[in-house]
Amino acid sequence: MRVLVLLFTLGCLLLSALPAQAQSALPPGNKQIKYSRWAYPSQVAYGPIEDGIGSTGMAPARSAFLTLPFMGPHYVTSVFSHCYPDYGTYTRVCRYDGTVASASVGGPDPDFTAGFAQTPGGHDFLYYAGHDGYDYGLYYEPIAAAAPGRVMLANWLVPGCETCLSGKTVEIDHGNGLLTFYGHLSRIDVSKGQYVTRGQVIGISGMTGTATGPHLHFGVYHMNGGGPVDPYGWGGSSPDPWSKDVGDLWLGGSPRFASIQMPSVTVGAAQQLDNPANINVSWASPGSMHFTVYAVNQNGVRTLWTTTTGNGSATFHGKPGQRYWFWASATSDLGWNDAAGSDVVRVPSINHGEAST
Ligand SMILES: [Zn+2]
Repeated sequence: MRVLVLLFTLGCLLLSALPAQAQSALPPGNKQIKYSRWAYPSQVAYGPIEDGIGSTGMAPARSAFLTLPFMGPHYVTSVFSHCYPDYGTYTRVCRYDGTVASASVGGPDPDFTAGFAQTPGGHDFLYYAGHDGYDYGLYYEPIAAAAPGRVMLANWLVPGCETCLSGKTVEIDHGNGLLTFYGHLSRIDVSKGQYVTRGQVIGISGMTGTATGPHLHFGVYHMNGGGPVDPYGWGGSSPDPWSKDVGDLWLGGSPRFASIQMPSVTVGAAQQLDNPANINVSWASPGSMHFTVYAVNQNGVRTLWTTTTGNGSATFHGKPGQRYWFWASATSDLGWNDAAGSDVVRVPSINHGEAST
């Protein structure tokens, strides 16, 4: 019986029912600008989903190096605004593909007046003017390093301030003149100076800092305050209005998930025919995972039973008349988790020296 699915998958399923919200993060080297708060409309059931299988229609830049900072499909709740991503007050939003939404083109979206519609009265807003990164609708889910690099910040963006800007923030220096930025985290799993690999879990998303709902602010910036770039590049027919871009930075030209082994746990429990008090338990996942295996009795008491690296099996000795099931959680070397439970097994009562059912 599959009891638990991957945390990020659960988050995906919850997304449509939860308010996500996009808010400002301080781009390194940029001035802090006051921003009003907007609740992202929870009733929105449309909008672009970044599913890691789409195509930007653009060739990758020579220096492309990124994979998506999460696994599984998620809504894009705010885009990088090419006109202009410096948190000024603007009346239009320009997306990487050249789409423009503005007060004069479509006016405010009737469902979401903070965003500008692409067509008059259309439910097709882009959000929000001046934004210098991408907001993805993640609900307390693992965040993946978008490329290998060295952690240069793993702390509150504004020291000691839990409600400022992007709150708990990680920045990674990729050694190519660019850094990636992950804001509004609820938990940070790395520390400054640490090297991380592609797809490694660096923390858990959240809504720290200035945010009224959980989401990830993902940004790519030139080092040393050189300003933001759009990792999706610029595919518009007019010249890129943002001069600091360096092209489509996704490996292969379109966003993809990191090619890493994710845990996916199965647990089996079968009684030995000649002695049904002996239960053969096995646990497995693709890849080489670190397992923690628990036995759960009929009162729901969970006891740590064993740990293994790699798939394993063992014999559990049950007591007559008791029911058991087994729970295994797996963690990959990069920090991803999955867990699952076995079916319930009942050890027969002893009756005149023989097992009864
Ligand atoms: Zn943002």
